[in-house]
Amino acid sequence: MRQIDDLPEIELHVAFVWDCDRCGSENWCRSVCMESAWMEQHEPDMVKEQADSIGDWHTYPEAVICGECGATYRAGTGDYE
Ligand SMILES: [Zn+2]
Repeated sequence: MRQIDDLPEIELHVAFVWDCDRCGSENWCRSVCMESAWMEQHEPDMVKEQADSIGDWHTYPEAVICGECGATYRAGTGDYE
């Protein structure tokens, strides 16, 4: 049996998954990772609000297109109040 250390390594990326309302296909899009230094310079208020957060800043696109049927949607996180 192969040992885990013998396997080639590949880099994983943070991504968002969404299901198309029109055709039901599962779609993926990569997250855009913002460096902390860039965020502190360009979005200081957001950095202050999220001061307890640890880790990288990730954002998603404004709109997404289904890779199967071409339907276009405004992207949201589903946690609106
Ligand atoms: Zn679709």
